[in-house]
Amino acid sequence: MKMKSYLMKKLEMKEIIMRRNLIGLRAVIIIAILMITVCLNAIAQVNVDDAKKTVIEWADVNAEHISDVSHQIWEFAEIGLTEFKSSDLLVSELEKNGFTMDRGLAGMPTSFVGTYIHGSGNPVIGILAEYDALPNGHSCGHNLFGTASVSSAIALKEAMEKHNIDGTIKLFGTPTEDTHGGKVWMAREGVFDGCDVFLSWHPGTKNDCNYGSNLAVQILEIKYYGISSHAGAAPEKGRSALDGLTISSIAMEFLREHMIEPMRIQYIITNGGQAPNSVPEFAQMRLVIRGPMMKDIDELRSREGGIDDCLRAGALASGTDVTMQVVGAFYNKMPNRTGSDLIIENMNYVGSPTFTEEENQFVQALAEKYDIPLGKLDSSIHEPIDDTGKASADTGDVSYIAPLISFNTTTEALGTPGHSSAKNEQVGMSIGWKGAIFATKVLACAGLDLLTDEARLAAVQKEFKDRMEGVDYHPVIPADLWPPIPKENPADFKGPAVPNLPEPEKPESLLYWKTN
Ligand SMILES: [Zn+2]
Ligand SMILES: [Zn+2]
Repeated sequence: MKMKSYLMKKLEMKEIIMRRNLIGLRAVIIIAILMITVCLNAIAQVNVDDAKKTVIEWADVNAEHISDVSHQIWEFAEIGLTEFKSSDLLVSELEKNGFTMDRGLAGMPTSFVGTYIHGSGNPVIGILAEYDALPNGHSCGHNLFGTASVSSAIALKEAMEKHNIDGTIKLFGTPTEDTHGGKVWMAREGVFDGCDVFLSWHPGTKNDCNYGSNLAVQILEIKYYGISSHAGAAPEKGRSALDGLTISSIAMEFLREHMIEPMRIQYIITNGGQAPNSVPEFAQMRLVIRGPMMKDIDELRSREGGIDDCLRAGALASGTDVTMQVVGAFYNKMPNRTGSDLIIENMNYVGSPTFTEEENQFVQALAEKYDIPLGKLDSSIHEPIDDTGKASADTGDVSYIAPLISFNTTTEALGTPGHSSAKNEQVGMSIGWKGAIFATKVLACAGLDLLTDEARLAAVQKEFKDRMEGVDYHPVIPADLWPPIPKENPADFKGPAVPNLPEPEKPESLLYWKTN
């Protein structure tokens, strides 16, 4: 018994020791795993923070250069599709910094894409840039838009290289936003495909990142064909194209009463006849239809008694013929609240610029010069709100391809109207430059979060997927239609030659018995 109990005890002891050892070993392993995890997290954390410091420092060191590039583009003030010097300048900035360049996309010589790949090349972040002016100069501030976006791509590249961050940066140089909506042609040609997320910004009166949408739009070219005749001597032999146009426009005036809010119909007559003593054989109008989504516009056009029927009615009642062609179409913007929060977080991280007494005095001098009330220069960072507006922009199409996160920074005083000379003056001096440097930092910092934080990117993409549920995206402009690209490039332009694009097919008659 004694012997047995001794052996038992010995065995028990051995077991207890073994168990203890096992527990100890387990504890050591668990502690080691915990420590490694903590260390790895710490490394990752430090990396993003350090990387953000790198891009902010880069923007501060290059602040004068960023201002200078934006000022050169401001002075070029090139209208849509003629941004030769502006695109050359931005391309040379990217090339100098090791980006691979692709130029002349979607038939437009002034479009470009700069690509930088590090490590695995994933995820892929697209950054949008605009650089076209209006007849009154850079009154939309695209001199800042293009420069800050390009600068942020370069800053990101610096950080990715220095901190070994995997990913691809694609900087999209998108021409003629304000005149022909360059992005829709690039979207139709698949230029934006393959990105996980898009970042964009726009010069404005506030530092904000709202998650509202805007309106989808279709721009239609309508042509009426009649029979000419002496309006005094032989009116019975003529059929007036202008009559057809007028009757259709009256029908559309009545249609306004029966459409959903906030749909809009706007039109101008671009050809109302040839001479008053001649029955007009040709008349033309440009029609703009806006709606919450593209399907609402399609529905208003095609329904019984809709736009297309109004146009037919004009032709029918005047004995003329009518054709219709979509010459432009933008989707509404697909909002992304998760992305808005990410931007505001980074705006607060970076810290918004303040403005001097001198700059505020400059604004008040502009208010007097242009006889418009202008407020102060707003340095605050605003919380995201739903600010769905009633205008349209070509960024809408991009927001249907992958999540688009777009924000504004203060580059002009509160109350400054878009496309105004007062805006043009502010985006061409230190007020605008400060907003552009701030935008550079915010774009790059948000880019770093999306490159390094898988969960963050996934959340942005999940919201996009949820909003796209059951929504169809297809380019609306006809496949054979191209923007009016100039026939020749200037001799000193470094981009590609003008492509040889086929003429679009003539649109068919809207009168169904003529086509069927
Ligand atoms: Zn703009
Ligand atoms: Zn504009």
